[in-house]
Amino acid sequence: MIIRRLPHHIIGSEKLLPFPHLAEPLDLGFTRLKNRFLMGSMHTGLEDDKDFHRLAGYFEERARGGVAIMVTGGFAPNRRGWLLPFAAKLTNRKESNKHHVLTERVHAADSKIVCQILHAGRYAYHPFSVAPSAIKSPITPFTPKAMSSALIRSTIQDFADSAYWARAAGYDGVEIMGSEGYLINEFLVEHTNHRQDEWGGEFPQRMRFALEVVKAVRAKVGLDFIIIFRLSMIDLIERGSSWNEVVLLAKSLQDVGVTLLNTGIGWHEARIPTIATCVPRALFSEVTHRLKKEVTIPVIASNRINDPKVAEDLLAYGCADLISMARPFLADPDFVRKALSGRSRYINTCIACNQACLDHAFEKKIASCLVNPRACHETELNYDKAIRSKRIAIVGGGPAGLSAALVAATRGHRVTLFEKSPQLGGQFNLAKRIPGKEEFEQTLRYFQESLRAQFVEVVLNHTVHSEQLLSQQFDEIIIATGVTPRIPQIEGISHPKVMSYIDAILHPERVGYKVVLLGAGGIGFDVAALLVQKKPATMPQFCQEWGIDLMVQHRGGVMPMIPTPPFREVTLMQRKTGKVGEHLGKTTGWIHRAHLKHKQVKMMAGVHYVKIDDLGIHIIHEKQQRHILADTIVVCAGQSPNQDCLTALRAAGVSVHAIGGAVEALELDAKRAILEGAELASKL
Ligand code: FAD
Ligand code: NAP
Ligand code: SF4
Repeated sequence: MIIRRLPHHIIGSEKLLPFPHLAEPLDLGFTRLKNRFLMGSMHTGLEDDKDFHRLAGYFEERARGGVAIMVTGGFAPNRRGWLLPFAAKLTNRKESNKHHVLTERVHAADSKIVCQILHAGRYAYHPFSVAPSAIKSPITPFTPKAMSSALIRSTIQDFADSAYWARAAGYDGVEIMGSEGYLINEFLVEHTNHRQDEWGGEFPQRMRFALEVVKAVRAKVGLDFIIIFRLSMIDLIERGSSWNEVVLLAKSLQDVGVTLLNTGIGWHEARIPTIATCVPRALFSEVTHRLKKEVTIPVIASNRINDPKVAEDLLAYGCADLISMARPFLADPDFVRKALSGRSRYINTCIACNQACLDHAFEKKIASCLVNPRACHETELNYDKAIRSKRIAIVGGGPAGLSAALVAATRGHRVTLFEKSPQLGGQFNLAKRIPGKEEFEQTLRYFQESLRAQFVEVVLNHTVHSEQLLSQQFDEIIIATGVTPRIPQIEGISHPKVMSYIDAILHPERVGYKVVLLGAGGIGFDVAALLVQKKPATMPQFCQEWGIDLMVQHRGGVMPMIPTPPFREVTLMQRKTGKVGEHLGKTTGWIHRAHLKHKQVKMMAGVHYVKIDDLGIHIIHEKQQRHILADTIVVCAGQSPNQDCLTALRAAGVSVHAIGGAVEALELDAKRAILEGAELASKL
């Protein structure tokens, strides 16, 4: 690793620079970025607040964390461009004035911020949507109206006016959203642009809208204002842009005054995962790398970059000039400061689960982060110094206990964390073994390093009994003992071919070839994913399985999928009728379902389990008695709370707190466990 000395303002008390390329300022001519980190645009829901105090708090915290430049969530340039009815827009002085608090606080914290202008086009979720042609998207119920020439002209002007109001609000620039299948992107490709006039037909006409928007914006804001264009470098849809078209557009955008080119990957309707945890880190950076060779303006890499070493390597290999990370800044607002001061091991890494960020956005809830519940709640959930330092015992070192321990210790309490197994992490030690969930290990690393730094006393291999806690003088006792797997009452459940999901995950080598999984929740799907694959997919295998052509030799960068054959024959069963896997995550469930389909996993709903014997499992399905041959039957039938300790303490009249699975197993996930731990510890 190259190490050199850093200027003092970057390092504080530390003297060494582990990531020289990331730390290097970038001169844009009229302005300068202090390092190579950009926080990418995310819709948090705070943009829809009456005033921007919460949004300002959110951005200010990230500005203080050292990021050079941030992009806001999308603001529409007019009503038709709204993503949702009454979504945020930036069209007049009143709306512009609202933003001052945000830009001022970011600048006071020595960072820069640009406002994203996003016209939703046919992705708008309202009946007034417009697009180049009247073609409905597969992900919205509304057919857009084809734009008249006059509407196209006025929309271009609206982009320019919006940029003007952004400048008036104190922003350092704008990002024009030209990717992910929104309006500008829709003009670019034949898939959505069937026009025969000067805005459609051959590519020079199809890209005209994008260029006219940039020209109008540049004319309105002057030369000393950042314009980032988010360019779809690989659409991941049939009839998307060809590579030559991407290059021609990039060069033309450069000619009309774009300052920075940001990478957009995939349309929202694409059936290829682009940011989920199963996507290999920095998978798409090669596309940015190729484009960088074609232009002279700086280019920004994005998508599944969540680690400073990966980011540094991308810059060192000349793949990009700046690194965009979005969700990693939800997970850790201090990412940059930690990375540049040699404290990367304390970074709270984004595990790309989407559970509290994108899933919330889709459910119209305020975004947050599974591993950092303060994200977007900076004005509400605070970890202030405790008035009195207490002695706190925490029983159980799963996500709930870890979160409570860290927050309590950060606040100045003296914490002892008891864990019965030889390692911290609870069920995350199982989750991290699932192919595509390797990132979960990062959460455990973060907690372990941070607990050590906060002098939390960790007692491993120690099963706590209530008597022990009663005999020691703790001011507060927190029970975080999690859950135990449910064993369903089925005849033959003790048959030697039956295994719990814990054994199957820890010892997949003991699982036979023909497997039946009882229960098709998150864990059933994860166990199936583990059993159908011998080893985690390599980058080329991932691309083959999902039909990704990173060289964009096919339009849109899509090619036929070539799934690798399954390693085992798996059947996934549930008792409920309805779609198997329908309650998986909003933005990731389709990926899990598609992946298992590629692996020929049979899915059965509405199953009644009759008995298990040497043959396998006997069931009633669609009113017919059947038996399914199986070498192994894995039980993934949910869990019950592990409350022995809690019940005994309460019976002894001791006041205790309970968090995570120890309280309730139903619908428990790590998001709830970590949030409950943090909330409780913030109040003690
Ligand atoms: P646990 O993780 O169960 O931790 C409880 C801890 O307490 C354990 O370490 C246990 O050893 C310890 N303990 C128990 N009794 C005692 C005692 N008497 N003394 C000392 N220690 C004790 N959730 C998600 O949100 N997203 C996912 O993608 C996801 N994937 C998963 C994949 C798998 C394969 C599995 C198994 C789970 C997954 N989960 C996921 C669920 C998530 O891991 C749990 O919701 C979460 O771990 C619950 O946290 P907890 O701290 O309440 O309990
Ligand atoms: P779960 O999602 O509640 O699923 C439990 C499964 O067991 C269901 O399919 C249920 O379906 C079945 N079941 C319940 N009671 C049963 C019984 N008595 N007999 C037979 N089958 C029974 O729980 P989980 O899969 O164990 O996951 C635990 C938690 O971890 C979940 O809350 C989940 O959110 C979280 N997790 C999340 C992810 C993720 O990717 N986000 C991944 C893994 C885990 P039927 O009742 O229809 O049979
Ligand atoms: Fe990353 Fe998951 Fe947090 Fe979203 S919720 S920022 S994906 S860790």
